[in-house]
Amino acid sequence: MSSITANLQAVRERIESAARAAGRPAQSVRLVAVSKTFASAAVREAEQAGQRDFGENYVTEGVDKIDELRSLGLTWHYIGPIQSNKTRSIAGYFDWVHSLDRAKIAARLSEARRPGQAELQVCIQVNVSGEATKSGVAPGDLATLATQVAMLPRLKLRGLMAIPEPTPDEKLQRARFAQLHELRERLNREGFSMDTLSMGMSADLEAAIAEGATMVRVGTAIFGERRS
Ligand SMILES: *Cc1c(COP(=O)(O)O)cnc(C)c1O
Repeated sequence: MSSITANLQAVRERIESAARAAGRPAQSVRLVAVSKTFASAAVREAEQAGQRDFGENYVTEGVDKIDELRSLGLTWHYIGPIQSNKTRSIAGYFDWVHSLDRAKIAARLSEARRPGQAELQVCIQVNVSGEATKSGVAPGDLATLATQVAMLPRLKLRGLMAIPEPTPDEKLQRARFAQLHELRERLNREGFSMDTLSMGMSADLEAAIAEGATMVRVGTAIFGERRS
C-alpha cells in the first residue's frame, strides 16, 4: 500500500471515531484532501484510494492540476487568500471557495462564473481568533457580508470556514470551533440556510468534528510534510 493510501485510511479512521464519539454519522463529515505543493501524481494516488474532494491554496498551481486531471471529474476547493486579479480563474475552475471574506471579491466571483457552470459553492471565512494578520471577516461584520453574498446570482452561500490559531490546548480549539458553529446557527435563525462548517485540519480535526464540522481540510496527515 502506498503511504498516501495508508495515510488516507488513517485519516478516515480518525474522522469515523471522532464522529462516533460525537454521536454523528461519519458520512456527515466530508474530507477535503489539501494537495497544495504536491504534484498531480499525488492527487491521482489519493483518487485511486477513493478520494474525490481536493483543496488548493495557490491559484496557478491549482488551475494547472485541475486542467491536467480534468478527466477524473474531481471536486476542487479553493481555500487560499483571494486576490482580485485571480477571481476569474478561481470562478472558472473551482467548484467551491472556502475563503471568501470581502464583498467586492464575492461580486467579482459571481460575475466571472459562467452561465453553463453550476453556482459556485462558497463559505465565508471568519476570523474567530481575532488575530490582526489573519484573513477572514470579523464576527461583527459577518451578517452584513452574508447578506451581500446571498444576493449574488452565481454564488451559493453554503456556510462558514475558520482557521483558528494553532494551539495544543484542545479546550481552546473546541471553543473556537464552537464559536463558528454558533455564528452559523445565529444566521440560520435570521433566515439563512447554511449547511456547511469548514473547520479542522490535520492537527485539530477531532475537536472540529466534536463541534459540528461538516468539512475538514487535511493536508499533512495525507500527503506528508510540505517542503514549501
Ligand atoms: C494548508 C491548509 C490546510 C491543511 O493543513 P494541514 O495542517 O496540512 O492539514 C487546511 N486549510 C487551509 C486553509 C490551508 O491553507
